Amino acid sequence: MNPVPPAQAAPVLTQTSVSKSTSFPFLDLHAQFEEIRTDVMAAVERVFESQHFILGPDVQRFEKEIADLLGCRYAFGCASGSDALALALKALEIGLGDEVITTPFTFVATAGAIARTGAKPVFVDIDPATYNLNPGDIQRAITSRTKAIIPVHLFGLPAAMDEINEVARFNRLAVIEDAAQAIGARYHGEFAGNIGDIGCFSFFPSKNLGGAGDGGLVTTNDADLADCLRLLRLHGSRTKYQYELLGFNSRLDTLQAAVLRVKLQHLENWTMARRRNAARYCSLFERAGLDASISMPIESSGTDHVYNQFIIRTEQRDPLRNHLRDAGIPTEIYYPSPLHLQPAFQYLGYQPGDFPEAESASRSVLALPIFPELTEAQQESVVASISDFFRVRD
Ligand SMILES: *Cc1c(COP(=O)(O)O)cnc(C)c1O
Repeated sequence: MNPVPPAQAAPVLTQTSVSKSTSFPFLDLHAQFEEIRTDVMAAVERVFESQHFILGPDVQRFEKEIADLLGCRYAFGCASGSDALALALKALEIGLGDEVITTPFTFVATAGAIARTGAKPVFVDIDPATYNLNPGDIQRAITSRTKAIIPVHLFGLPAAMDEINEVARFNRLAVIEDAAQAIGARYHGEFAGNIGDIGCFSFFPSKNLGGAGDGGLVTTNDADLADCLRLLRLHGSRTKYQYELLGFNSRLDTLQAAVLRVKLQHLENWTMARRRNAARYCSLFERAGLDASISMPIESSGTDHVYNQFIIRTEQRDPLRNHLRDAGIPTEIYYPSPLHLQPAFQYLGYQPGDFPEAESASRSVLALPIFPELTEAQQESVVASISDFFRVRD
């Protein structure tokens, strides 16, 4: 029998231990898993029972469910969002000698996919209000080599697709939507990813619909492009050991599809929770009189933002971030450097000052926790801490 230990003096609670005990993660995937554990584990077990790991029935079912959700004719799972972009470019026969216009203020994969085909990424600056491609700057960047435009629906807010499609039609360019952060977002009633020629999605775990690893998907309404995409992800093969095209090995694992099908049933609720949290931040900031010190994300008219990220903006970004970190409040910076200033794209010859809005955004944006399970009390603690920061400075 273990003797009862003698009573110990309660540990002295220092300021840091208090804040640590109330701290929470930037994205709480554990909380999400608790909600769906039984269904996820049953789906995984079903795949193991079948031992049908490559393009099993869950993949086709998931593709059909996504196509129904988005209202598109064709959807093909693939290995990642980066591969979705690569497949889209390949299906459009874009490669060496071609130019593709995109934004410098995005995740590296957007421009990386262009460069890896041998084509040249051509950057166009962003609209500082939306962080998305500024459509008014696109025409000026078009040359005889331009083949496509890749708008990114950054942070979950659809880009100005009417203007982008119009400039694309006028110049006979394809439009590939990078909808990696925007599943479920709407633009004048249409779903992001179903507005251009090909839509690209990612199921990286931190996206709004995240898998248990890597995954991606391409969508289109064009039968010829669909046929090409279907072959390209499977070594260019329609019939076993017959290769019509030089393709990739880029499939969505059956296991991922099975997990994603479970999660897809919750997507609408999770998106509503993200939107509720965004609205709550806005009213809390307003109530705290902070709307003059920081800018809030906007929802352009006719769009539904899905808040993969909730981005505030302030010239005091770095000291504010340090203050929040000391208070146990997690934040992230998307993105600390625009792509035209990254060493990997140095060969393109861009200089600091070439895209002033993207550069300025990189210095002033801060992402706050926005995940669906975030509580009102946690949001209040974020806003209170930001309030403290500006009170001391004023
Ligand atoms: C996540 C992301 C990608 C790449 O997706 P992966 O699945 O990680 O390859 C591409 N573009 C944007 C804007 C993204 O956020």
